[in-house]
Amino acid sequence: MRNVSLRILAMLSFAAIVFPPSLAGAQGKKVYISVDMEGIAGVNGDDQTSPGGAEYGRARKLMAEDANAAIRGAFEGGATDVLVNDSHGGQRNLLPEDLDPRARLISHTFKRYGMMEGLDETFDAIIFVGYHAKADSPRGLFAHTGSGVVRDLQVNGKSVGEGGLNAVLAGWFGVPIVAVSGDDVAVDEVKGSVPGVRGAVVKRAINMRAVELRPLADARKEIQNAAREGVQASAKPARERLNRYQVRMQFRNFTIPEVASAFSEMTVVAPDTVEFSRASMPEAYRLVRVLYRYINPD
Ligand SMILES: [Zn+2]
Repeated sequence: MRNVSLRILAMLSFAAIVFPPSLAGAQGKKVYISVDMEGIAGVNGDDQTSPGGAEYGRARKLMAEDANAAIRGAFEGGATDVLVNDSHGGQRNLLPEDLDPRARLISHTFKRYGMMEGLDETFDAIIFVGYHAKADSPRGLFAHTGSGVVRDLQVNGKSVGEGGLNAVLAGWFGVPIVAVSGDDVAVDEVKGSVPGVRGAVVKRAINMRAVELRPLADARKEIQNAAREGVQASAKPARERLNRYQVRMQFRNFTIPEVASAFSEMTVVAPDTVEFSRASMPEAYRLVRVLYRYINPD
């Protein structure tokens, strides 16, 4: 008997470890923050956005500051649990020691869902920080989609950038995107996919390279305000689930479609373009990521 009660006691304490009360979500909101780098306040050059660049160290600090502004706003708006996903390049840009200690951090790029890794239907709100315009956008700073190889990405007939693609996945889980920060082109683009989203414009793109930077303190204040108001007002919509997700990807080369033709469900519709469909958005999202990130025909 003693053994049995000890075992029950052990099970109870195990349950307490597995389900900490902060994750219960009864009293507060659970917020997901995806942080890219090109749309961060103060970031303005190629030497900042990849490890090895002369100013990369500076840029990752700037990235943490914008993320922290969003985290502060989220907690002010009623969050009790905040998950940050490093969403840029190798996705190991944010240093945990630079981040608001109240937030958890997902790091490293070897993820199924990339910029949206860790999202599920238990979240109440999503914030995009540091986003940029889609590929071939004539004026967006650092405009691209996924990686440099993509010319255009369409989901169910609509051309989307990273924000628009991530928004479709968010809709699948029924979690609203409540705020976005980036340059003016990126914020407008996400507004086109997510009506009503609060935008924090931290810089004005003059073209793909030149930019007018807002003072850092103002930019961060605006991110914090958008995050706070967005989380405060957030309400979960019904999940948006279609029977089929049709994807069309046009590349800047012919080699990726050639390699991708090895997947039986892939149709090469033009030398630079493939199409496929999937029964769920998470499945479609994974395959999009494989196509732009993990096929290297060189
Ligand atoms: Zn990006």
